[in-house]
Amino acid sequence: MLQDARDLTDGQLLEADICIAGAGAAGIAIALELLDSGLEVILLESGGLKEERASQALYTGTVADAQLHSPPDRYRQRRLGGSTTLWGGRCVPFDDIDFEERPYLPGSGWPFARAALEPYYRRANELCEAGQFAYTADEAFASPLPPVVPGFASADYSTHQLERFSCPTNFGQRYRRRLASARNLRVLLHANIVQLSLNEAGTRVTEVGLRTLEGKTCRVHARHHVLALGGLEVARILLANRDTHREGIGNDRDLVGRNYMCHIAGTVGTLELSDPAAVISHGYDLAEGGVYCRRRFALNAATQRRLGIGNFIARLHHPRITDPQHDTGILSLLYLAKDFIPYEYAKRLHGGEPATWRQWLGHVGNVCADPADTAGFLWNWYRRRHLATRKLPSIVVWPRARRFSLDFHSEQQPQAASRVRLNEQRDALGMPQLHVDWRYTPWDIHTVRCSLALFARDIRNSGIGTFTYDAAELEAEILRDGAYGGHHIGTTRMGDDPRTSVVNADGRVHGVGNLSIAGSATFPTSSQANPTLTVVALAVRLAAHLKQQLQANCPVVRNVPA
Ligand SMILES: Cc1cc2nc3c(=O)[nH]c(=O)nc-3n(C[C@H](O)[C@H](O)[C@H](O)COP(=O)(O)OP(=O)(O)OC[C@H]3O[C@@H](n4cnc5c(N)ncnc54)[C@H](O)[C@@H]3O)c2cc1C
Repeated sequence: MLQDARDLTDGQLLEADICIAGAGAAGIAIALELLDSGLEVILLESGGLKEERASQALYTGTVADAQLHSPPDRYRQRRLGGSTTLWGGRCVPFDDIDFEERPYLPGSGWPFARAALEPYYRRANELCEAGQFAYTADEAFASPLPPVVPGFASADYSTHQLERFSCPTNFGQRYRRRLASARNLRVLLHANIVQLSLNEAGTRVTEVGLRTLEGKTCRVHARHHVLALGGLEVARILLANRDTHREGIGNDRDLVGRNYMCHIAGTVGTLELSDPAAVISHGYDLAEGGVYCRRRFALNAATQRRLGIGNFIARLHHPRITDPQHDTGILSLLYLAKDFIPYEYAKRLHGGEPATWRQWLGHVGNVCADPADTAGFLWNWYRRRHLATRKLPSIVVWPRARRFSLDFHSEQQPQAASRVRLNEQRDALGMPQLHVDWRYTPWDIHTVRCSLALFARDIRNSGIGTFTYDAAELEAEILRDGAYGGHHIGTTRMGDDPRTSVVNADGRVHGVGNLSIAGSATFPTSSQANPTLTVVALAVRLAAHLKQQLQANCPVVRNVPA
């Protein structure tokens, strides 16, 4: 059943076995896994079916350094489907090493190994519509693919790992009907969770308080509660509720909101190949069912351990589009059209620096000199991006000047000083806003520095060309765009020890028996991988635990009206 909280009676009490707050990838995945479980479920969503300015404004907050982090109402969507209404769909599981305790990385080590997530990853892959769970070229393709860069040889990097792409699946749109038709599920739109009331001992949630923007209030009583509000918002709701726990729920040791990580990412350097006729295969390959896949340069686990650095991957990329010297009409067209590209995708595209009139003319010249290519590209883009169900994930061009840059994605170290907390201002519901103080460490930069040096050495030693970059400017270059937006990790980290973590291995808040957290907030470390596949895998795992626990613990008696 799909309902709107604005249509309920003021003060109405709703009852269920499980109450899930937040209908993004995590919340929807849990709800789907609980369909036909015999358990009654309520899924609360703050937004509606589309983006609404007033709901989105509830994400407004402040940042400590605007250069380092985007405003909190960017890179998030407050509506059914959450940020999957905006995501790029890149799916990558975490690597074995990401789960290990690494002596050179304080705070590393998940409470279980990657193998424990394997079955859930497979189901997550289905929910994300990323095809088979096959993340190497050998597994995914019947015949061998041509090398990414002919002649590239490396003992430190592999090129057979894949990233696979979801449609990209908007979880709200894709699963709405299935959710709405389920007899054991009530999806409540425009239902903002604002209050978590606990028993006197602070060990159980007794009631959840909802509020609509129109001022209506409702209450939910459930046997178990799950917060699936996204990596920033989970911390906000825990910190804002201080009736029983004076510092906020789960925050007796001042851990909620700390260890906030995104990813270190950027586009650096110039790869020039000695053979101008070399065939570079850095684009997308189509796997079964038309799923887009792409190979990447992945730093081996052994190299990470040997050098004591973090996880790192890179892809060949077109040169910075700002400078028309790339001589490529398509890239210039992209530059000229940058104001029509959504903020979240434009931000890293062109660096934001204003173009000189000379550069403008250069771009116009590139487009005019390349009319056939540019027109062909536009048609192809429209067809494969807007008409197709499975959308071409991004533009991959072969720059005329035969020069490439390196687009990298790298792990961040967890550190207490990088945090989100509450600020003095309140939103339209009276909830304190968030203040984001994202930080990086010298180790983060060291990881990138070492990884790039290895790549440059391997290109040179392979005798296929050169990869050059300004090592002195590396930190400034890396931080040009700041934290990688959209990946909000670590604010309620998972672990066995309540002194160093907020939730246990099952995602349950230490000390609060019927409250769990789903989402990237629980990741103890960030990996190189984009988070959503792992968010969904953990959500599926949590649903399985809840099903087992609550079904065994007394059968369900209530009925949500169909
Ligand atoms: C531009 C962009 C591109 C991205 N690309 C990728 C990618 O290629 N690959 C990848 O892995 N990840 C990507 N991501 C990240 C991905 O979108 C998130 O990892 C994913 O959406 C997280 O799911 P979630 O359910 O944990 O949180 P969300 O999707 O944020 O969902 C949280 C839900 O909770 C609701 N909510 C919030 N507060 C309340 C409240 N008080 N009461 C009730 N409901 C509330 C919100 O409305 C929302 O629906 C991208 C993100 C962005 C912004």
